[in-house]
Formats: sequence, structure tokens, C-alpha cells
Amino acid sequence: MGSVAQIHSVKGSADRLDSASRRLVRTLAARGIDDASLRAFGEVPRHRFVPAAMAEFAYQDIPLPIAEGQTISQPYVVAWMIRAAGVKPGQRVLEVGTGSGYAAAIASRIAAEVYSVERHRALAEGARVLLASLGYDNVHVLHADGTRGWSEHAPYDAILVAAGGPSVPAALLDQLAPGGALVMPVGPADEQTLVRVRRDERGGLAREELGDVRFVPLVGEHGWSPTSRASDAAVVALMGECVQPFENVELAELDALLERIGTARVVLLGEATHGTHEFYRMRARISRALIERHGFQAVAIEGDWPDAARVNRYARHLPPASVPWRPFSRFPTWMWRNEDVRLFAEWLRVHNGKMDPERPTGFYGLDLYSLFTSADAVLRYLDQEDPEAALVARARYGLLTPWQTDPVAYGRAVAAGRFESCEAKVAQVLVDLLARRLDHAAQDGERFLDAAENARVVADAEAYYRAMYRGNVASWNLRDRHMADTLGALLEFLGPDAKVVVWAHNSHVGDATATEMGAEGEHTLGQLCRAGLGPDAVRLIGFGTDHGTVIAASNWGEPHEVKRVRPADPRSYEGLCHRAQIPGFVLPLRQARREVLRDELTAPRLERAIGVIYRPETELQSHYFRASLPRQFDEWIWFDRTTALRPLGSGRSEPGLPETYPFAL
Ligand code: SAH
Repeated sequence: MGSVAQIHSVKGSADRLDSASRRLVRTLAARGIDDASLRAFGEVPRHRFVPAAMAEFAYQDIPLPIAEGQTISQPYVVAWMIRAAGVKPGQRVLEVGTGSGYAAAIASRIAAEVYSVERHRALAEGARVLLASLGYDNVHVLHADGTRGWSEHAPYDAILVAAGGPSVPAALLDQLAPGGALVMPVGPADEQTLVRVRRDERGGLAREELGDVRFVPLVGEHGWSPTSRASDAAVVALMGECVQPFENVELAELDALLERIGTARVVLLGEATHGTHEFYRMRARISRALIERHGFQAVAIEGDWPDAARVNRYARHLPPASVPWRPFSRFPTWMWRNEDVRLFAEWLRVHNGKMDPERPTGFYGLDLYSLFTSADAVLRYLDQEDPEAALVARARYGLLTPWQTDPVAYGRAVAAGRFESCEAKVAQVLVDLLARRLDHAAQDGERFLDAAENARVVADAEAYYRAMYRGNVASWNLRDRHMADTLGALLEFLGPDAKVVVWAHNSHVGDATATEMGAEGEHTLGQLCRAGLGPDAVRLIGFGTDHGTVIAASNWGEPHEVKRVRPADPRSYEGLCHRAQIPGFVLPLRQARREVLRDELTAPRLERAIGVIYRPETELQSHYFRASLPRQFDEWIWFDRTTALRPLGSGRSEPGLPETYPFAL
């Protein structure tokens, strides 16, 4: 404070603050605040309780931001609460939510003792120091969870809760003296009601609502959970208005969803786990509707091509393939060998039996784990169609035969330089086959498609096992690219009007550009479809659940178990959906008229993915990732509680259905 000029400017601003403070008192007087309170507002320097940058607004009758994302209450609201609680000289007051300490300071100018509790340490300490420096030594600040009150100094004649909670904590009412009153905002963020609870002289409680208010959330044991975001309640409320709720799969009204799907050519139906009955059931229901009402001609799954081909033959009333082997017997078997898939295959067979045989609905596999069965299928086809080409192909594929029991070891051997890559040789089989497409396809298009797609599997699987040694992203991308290429070939085969529905995990269906994995360089089937066909021709539909049971293994290759799905993390999208307290719903994410909700949901949150393996113990590290849901999917289908699917052969299949074909039990 050296110069005269500085002293003048300090004095000048003090004068300005003084007149601003008088203006505030006049404003409050005009709103009917009593003299004792007005004296307190005239005395307490509010500019000391707000951040320096906000000082010029300190005496306006508005709330202002303080540290830790909290706010200093609007002076009128402080006055209102003090009046509503009937704070009088000589009384003991409990405040929950010290914040800046301003309301406590005001109350301390009226009452005898003020006890104030704040959950943020920095705020509690800041307020304690400031209040002491102002000489307000009848205010006592405690850093603690105020939803439990401050029992040491109870009972209180008045309790002021300065943050909005879901309900009035019983612990606070226990600390309210006979004849006293508690005042608290109750309700979700943005829409609370100021509630007063009075205790009469005989101990009875009476509750009244005083009006609408808006406070920061009360976070604590008897308040909101610390992990849910302040605005979640508002998002949940908005979500409640935008969803199409349903009781269960069977009763779900799907017309609106089907209308939104409209003329899309590819609909990808996800799943948040690989072992949830409701996900399969709902995918079957939607698929049936798409087939019956929207002319979809194929279901393509995240399963192997030759295995799905068995189901395809069954569903199309074609004779069983001559080579006997158990389809879907590779780990994880339950993914496609389960009751829900079998019932869908039965339905498809009946449906095809009733429909034009020229336009059947097929069942195909997009995945690439069938290296050797696919190689066999190609050779068998060539043996019949082109024996010379079969000889050449046999020699080329023969290079891989030593690795038949362990293709992963092939990748390792190539990576280590112990074995020469077969890349060019196996790729050549596919190239040769495709080069003669016209000759072959003219005879029997579908047999040719089968051979060509098997040759694509061999080529891509060979590359996949090598890519495994270059890291997860490389092999993941190869696999999703393979699925997209196979789907593309299928669409091309089916013709320009073809429509296909895909069943795959959310992690393949969702657009990776909206997820943490995308940021690491991964791409997905759904994203490649959007890019290749245009976003309007494609619908990406994600599925989610909060809790229940699921089929999964603890480690790769181990037997499946029925596991309990833990309730979702409250910070996650699933946690948000759970708070809507609706058993199931369809949430449109794409529509423009839902813009407000879309915006609210776009900020990234955690999302849960349960795959073949589920490790509830380490769930947060191993099963959650960050994503932006409305960018990841076009629609979101929610089941609050879900149940484990039933693997085939668990002895509980419906009577009257053939057990052995097409799954060959
Ligand atoms: N009376 C304060 C208003 C602060 S806003 C003032 O005049 O400045 C509400 C405060 O309540 C915030 O500081 C917030 O951190 C605090 N709070 C929220 N939940 C709490 C809890 N369970 N226990 C104590 N304080 C809590």
C-alpha cells in the first residue's frame, strides 16, 4: 500500500461496496424481510465471502459461484430460510452446507450459536478462517457429512439445510428440539421444493411445502450419492419423457422403433453381454418384425460362417450338410448354442416354409475363427467344381495344416521368424476364386457365395493370427474389417434392395469414434457400415442392463457359469438409466426433436461391456470404458434387470423340437 493513489482507490471501492450493501438491504426490506435480519445483512460484508473476481456482484440479490463448483446462496433465499425456520435471538442453529460461510454469518448475527457442517474440506477451512477473521466467534464449522447432523451440540432450535436432497434425513429430525423447525430443499437437481418440518412441544412432526427453489445437491450418506452428477436428476427426468417404456420383451411396443428404422438397409442389434436372455429375445423379436414387415432377407451374426451355414440350411429346408460336426462348438459355445437362438432358427424355418421359396430369409456368420473348417469347405467345393484349382488350393492351404490344433502358435512362429508367412498363398485362393465368380455363380450362386466367403475367412484368419502378435488394436481391426467385408459381400449377393439384420456385441455395433477404443485406433463393424453405406442406411442399436444374472466364464476356455451382474456404477450410462426406474425402454438417440436430451447425454460417461469373460471383482477396471452414447448408437434398448440365457443341452429345452439338428447335440 505505498502510493496515495492506491489508498484512494481502496477507499473509493469501500465506499462503493458500502452503498451497494445498503442497496441490498433496501431490496430485502422491500420484499418484507424483518428488521433483525436486515441489520444482519447490513453488517455482514458479503464481498468477503465471494471470489475476488465476483466482488463487484456481491451485493446483488443473486447466487454466485464459489469454489468446488458450489454456490453462495441468494441473500433473499437466506433471509427466507431464516424466517421460515423462525431463527430468534438466544437460539442454537444447525446449518448443513457452510459453503462460503455467508448464511452462517447472517444467522450468527441473530441467533446465539451457529453450528455449520460442510463436506468440502477446503470450503470448511476457508469459511472457518474468514469467520474468525471477522470476529464471528459464535459460528462453529465442522468438516463432515452434514446429512448426519452434528449430534454433539444437539438439539437445535432451527436447522437450515442449504443443499437439495432426495428426502429429509431422519438424523437431522432427531436433532431438532421441541418447538423447533427444519427448512430444507427436497427434490432432484433443478426442481426442489423448500420443505419445512416443525416439531411440536410434545415431539410430533408436521411438514409443509413452502415453494420452489434451486440448490446444489446435498451429497452424503442420507443425501445423493457422491458419484452421481449434479444434473443427473434432470437428465433422468428428461429421459423419462423421451423413452418408450415396456414391461418385458413380449409386451414391448415396437411400432415407433420400426418406423424410425424406416428404409434403413442394415440394422445392427447389439448386446451388452454375450450371455443375457433378454438381449437375444429382443433381438429375435425385432428381427422377426423386420423380416415380416420390412422385407429383411438375412440375419448375420457375430459367429463363424460354416457354423451359421448349418442353421441357414435348416431354416431354408435344405438337406443337412454332408460333413457331420458340431457347429458352434468352439469356445464360447453358449453364444450361439442356446435356447433363444434355437427358437429363432425354428421360427425362421416355419417362416421360410410359408414364404416364396425364391425369396428365402437366410442366416449367415460374419466372424473369422473357422480357419480350418472354412479351408475344408473351400476344398470340398473346388473338388466338385474345379478339380485342378482344388489341387492348387490344397497345396496352398496345406502350408497351414501343421498349425491345425493351434493357429495362435502359427502367428507366434511367424512373428518370431521361425515360420514363413502363408499370407500371399492363402490370399491367392480367394483372389482366384473371385476371378472366376461369373462362371461359378451362374450355376449356383449360393454355393459359390459359401465357398468365396469361406476363402475370405481363411485369408483373413491367417492375417488375424499374425496380427495378434502386433497387438490388440491390429487384430481387433482386422476382425471387424472382415465382418464388414463379409456383410458387404452378402449385401451384394442379395441384390440392390437387400436388407440385413446383424446380431453382434455392442462393442462391434457401436461407432468406435464415440468411444475410448476409437481414440486408441480401433474401428468397428457399425462404424464401417455407417462409413460405407451412409448413416441413413444404417441403424446402430445398443442394449444395456443394470443388474441380474448372466452366462460368462471366469477365464478364456473355462466352462460357463451363471454369474451375478453387479448393479451398474452410478456414474455410468447404465447407472443413469437405472435411476429412471423403468423395467425396460427404447430410447431414440438420433432424433432431432430430442435435441435437449441428446445434448445432455453426449458428454462422455462410463459404459459397461461384459463379454465372454466376466470378472465382477475388477469390474470398474476390466468392464467399463468411456463413450458418448448418442454418437455411438442410434437407439438404446434398456432392461433394468436381466437373466442368464440357457445354453443348449442344459436339459430344459422345449418338448417337441428336434434336439439334434441343426445344432447336432
Ligand atoms: N450456505 C452456503 C451455501 C452453500 S451451497 C452459503 O451461504 O455460501 C451448499 C453447500 O452444501 C456446498 O458448499 C456443498 O459443498 C455443501 N454440502 C452438500 N452436501 C453436504 C453434506 N452432506 N454435508 C455438508 N455439506 C454439504
